[in-house]
Amino acid sequence: MRDKTLWNSCLHFFEGTLTSLQFNSWIKPLIFEIQGNLITLTAPNSFILKVVQDRFLPEISKQAALFLACPPTFELRIGEKPLNLPPKKLPVALTNIVPSISQLALNKHTNQNKLNPLLSFENFVTGKANQLAHAAAIQVAETPGTTYNPLFIYGGVGLGKTHLIQAIGNHIKLDNAQAKVCYVHATNYISDVVRAFQTKKFDEFKQFYNSLDLLLIDDIQFIADKTGTQQEFFYTLNSLIDGHKQVVITCDSFPKEISGMTPRLTSRFSWGLTVAVEPPGLEMRVAILLQKAALSNNPINEDVAFFIAKHIRSNIRELEGALKRIDAYSRFHKRSISVELAKEALKDLLASQNKQISIENIQKTVADFYRIKVADLLSKKRTRLIARPRQIAMCLARELTQLSLPEIGAAFGGRDHTTVMYACKTIESLRNSNPPLNADFNLLNQTLRN
Ligand code: ADP
Ligand code: MG
Repeated sequence: MRDKTLWNSCLHFFEGTLTSLQFNSWIKPLIFEIQGNLITLTAPNSFILKVVQDRFLPEISKQAALFLACPPTFELRIGEKPLNLPPKKLPVALTNIVPSISQLALNKHTNQNKLNPLLSFENFVTGKANQLAHAAAIQVAETPGTTYNPLFIYGGVGLGKTHLIQAIGNHIKLDNAQAKVCYVHATNYISDVVRAFQTKKFDEFKQFYNSLDLLLIDDIQFIADKTGTQQEFFYTLNSLIDGHKQVVITCDSFPKEISGMTPRLTSRFSWGLTVAVEPPGLEMRVAILLQKAALSNNPINEDVAFFIAKHIRSNIRELEGALKRIDAYSRFHKRSISVELAKEALKDLLASQNKQISIENIQKTVADFYRIKVADLLSKKRTRLIARPRQIAMCLARELTQLSLPEIGAAFGGRDHTTVMYACKTIESLRNSNPPLNADFNLLNQTLRN
């Protein structure tokens, strides 16, 4: 009883003093427990944990003093958080955006460099796969130029990188309409450099980029192998960061892994904070589908959402595609959306998908990746060099196929289902503690899904 009252009082206080974005990002994901004078706060990741520790612990402590006989001790830890479903309401955030120099001086691009007001934090569903990137993006949007500079967000296609960086831009414009914000896709940045060069307008180019308060540059991997552009970007980056102006960069891979990029640039990328967006798990895919459908005026129920999420596993863009197909199919046939209808609408898509992800395909892909033989995966060998890839393959089979644990065990040289279960648990925990292994896993996962 007492714990509820105390935490409710904290919630009430923070709800009243923080913006709803702050409240939803830092306070709402916390799990609160109390035993005697020991207050345990569980945060979904180290990032939120640190923010809570630095910014909110003193107030929580103050609130606790009102309820407890003696001062509390705190234990902060990381653990499972509840899924954060965004509000149903669609906020309208019309923003004016400084055109990039392409539009400004050379007037070639029209829509490429605009902020899309629909790509907001409010419309962004969070879960384990993107919680860290989301938290970092919010921190940067609230205190641009002062915390993580540059913020470097990386991950596979369709996982929300563009959405997040645009959300930062939208948030900052909403906070301060005067802020000079530029969203530019790396290919347009290259065009800017080339045109500035051709038309001898380098001064204008430099002046434009150096005068920004916020530069959002999307898909930086496109400037790989473009030495001249890299040099210009290096200057721009330094000048903005030195002037405490925020830079946010997205990329399809980890900085050091972009080939054809000068090391001085990749090392500069890592000066701020580098965060990943990962493929969403099942529950998060469901949450995203429910949100998207609710916004589309043709809502779906959870059964339908689970059906789609179980079959479309690659990325969020694909989920949206599937939903649009179902929506169109339902409108065309004037039938309401059911699992049956979803099955019909996605028939072709599902047929081609199911063919692809067979357990043999997984075994072959994993074996190739680790340069071992499929026969080794199926053998009794237990050296780490074989056993670890085997566990990864089992775990992928669990995620990507409809096979049961005993069936997966059988497909791996007649192993017991408990071995498969143990493999999945081991890999799951290694993915949290071992970033290179996690990166391998994500890469394999996406390769197999696409
Ligand atoms: P990327 O830039 O990583 O390739 P995008 O940001 O373009 O991916 O995302 C693809 C689509 O999925 C966009 O329409 C985006 O709005 C949507 N999307 C991605 N992540 C989320 C999320 N967490 N919540 C809601 N929609 C998302
Ligand atoms: Mg993108």
